[in-house]
Amino acid sequence: MSATESIIKGHCPECGAGKNADIVAAYKHSWQDDEHPIWGQVDYRILKCRGCDRIYVQRAEVFSEDLNYYYDAAGEPQEEYNVDYSYWPSPLKRARPSWFDELFAVDASLHCILNEVYSGLDGDLAVLSATGMRTAFDRATELLGVDPAKTFQQKLNDLFAAGKVGESEKNTLAVLADAGGAAAHRGWKPQPKQLATMMDIVEAFCHRNFILDGQVGKLKPQIPPKQKRRPDDGDALSAV
Ligand SMILES: [Zn+2]
Repeated sequence: MSATESIIKGHCPECGAGKNADIVAAYKHSWQDDEHPIWGQVDYRILKCRGCDRIYVQRAEVFSEDLNYYYDAAGEPQEEYNVDYSYWPSPLKRARPSWFDELFAVDASLHCILNEVYSGLDGDLAVLSATGMRTAFDRATELLGVDPAKTFQQKLNDLFAAGKVGESEKNTLAVLADAGGAAAHRGWKPQPKQLATMMDIVEAFCHRNFILDGQVGKLKPQIPPKQKRRPDDGDALSAV
């Protein structure tokens, strides 16, 4: 293995996607069907990030029937093998927010769905995580009094009308609806960055509507009532 071959791009759990890494160890597994002209290859690589020295594992799989067809700049048809990458630890893995346990008291069902989404992200399960986010959002809107029978776009319109989401948030959330639908119906595999953005939205939405609103409600009775000066009592302040 030459020096250049021992460096590849990988998704470092600390630094993110497309970072240079040294191949510390590698194993190639190839197979071929006895009767049919199909074959596959899986490369397992232990990588060491050139940025942060973190060690992680990359699995890169190629299957003879999974080809990407496209036209090059000259208009000539081209084909190349799709490479399915997965990593350990999962690049999708993210920390549960500090308020996550409080959500259980708000709604055990929503807490349970989101818990599964986090497990999906921990396990690098992109499609299941995306559909789970959609399910979590459906449950969240139901808790806010939106009719569950409505379409996703109608739910968003209702939330916008009720002041629960802003204009730009509504548009971003519409992408989440499309993403969940696409993931479920057309074999779409969302990228780590897309999933992180979608999860940001779901978390912010739940935090604002179920945690923050509750805290604001709890804070109100603790604010001391306004005090005002009685005109007949020069130095005494009294609560109203
Ligand atoms: Zn790194």
